Amino acid sequence: MKTIPFAKIIGHTLPLEFIANGLTHGPIGHAYLFYGPEGVGKDLIASRFAMALLCEHSSRTGDACDACDSCRRFTNDNHHNFQLLRPEGAQNYKVDQLRELRRNVSLMAYHEGRRVYLIPDADKMNPEGANAILKTLEEPSSGVVLILVTSQSIKLLPTIHSRCQKVRFGRLSDHDLEPFLIQEYSLDKETASLLARLSEGSPGRSRELTLPSVSQLRKVLFSELTRHRPENLSNAMEMPKKINDMRKNAESEEDIKIDIQTLYDWMLFYFRDLLVYRLTKNPDLLINQDFKNEIAQISSRWSWSAIRSSIQQLEYLKWVAPKNLNNQFCLESVFLRAYQSFS
Ligand SMILES: [Zn+2]
Repeated sequence: MKTIPFAKIIGHTLPLEFIANGLTHGPIGHAYLFYGPEGVGKDLIASRFAMALLCEHSSRTGDACDACDSCRRFTNDNHHNFQLLRPEGAQNYKVDQLRELRRNVSLMAYHEGRRVYLIPDADKMNPEGANAILKTLEEPSSGVVLILVTSQSIKLLPTIHSRCQKVRFGRLSDHDLEPFLIQEYSLDKETASLLARLSEGSPGRSRELTLPSVSQLRKVLFSELTRHRPENLSNAMEMPKKINDMRKNAESEEDIKIDIQTLYDWMLFYFRDLLVYRLTKNPDLLINQDFKNEIAQISSRWSWSAIRSSIQQLEYLKWVAPKNLNNQFCLESVFLRAYQSFS
């Protein structure tokens, strides 16, 4: 497994300090829960933490040394004391997987040396699976460390929360993210600044935005939105289909899957910008810097209630919409509600 030294990770000062302190001064807990927004680097840091927990020298440096036998085995994916779990079911971890983990952990009670289990997407467990993990956490074997990672900690049982040392990750600031984007993707400062705002401090999401078809989709969506006349019913009926077709075209062009949540986010940013401009008349506060002139021109075209209703609807969709829900049908409610607030 490829990892990055803690010193090269951008942002996350507090979680990294906490981890390094545990490695150098102890004590090491038997279970950790890494939680925070998606795409900010939790998995990356969790795998490096696992490597450091097994490293022969980390108690001196607070990070893996990349040179000892253990570190080499970890990097080559043949460390016998490390296991990375992945959901084997369509959506979730299988119960058998988690029961197997439990058996494995208890068998290792008399095993020499530390053993580390990394469980990404820890929220993807059904109640039976969560129960199996809970039993593992309730009867910790010495030397065993479990690292659970989640972007949706609310879905985990409170009893799982209470049995783990919790490490909270936040979004990266624009200040941290911009230089990273400039260096990583050879972007100019203006584009990096736009991407940092659009990705809300998530390097993972900004990576998606550097794909040509994704950035093109956003541009086309925006020009459609800025042309949209919210008081016109036929226009309100057309928008959802247009948006759906745009997404399908972009996906087929580069053979990628564009997360529907991303689409909702872009639309939320658009309405948020309309609101902000109406309130402040300050274009520097807008997220969509590349469309600030258009937003300034059309923000008065939208009524307060239409903007508010659209934001509420999109927030709701973002929260409830399963990934396979019909996008066009969902969006119709957004545009029709906006239209109704004019009539
Ligand atoms: Zn090492």
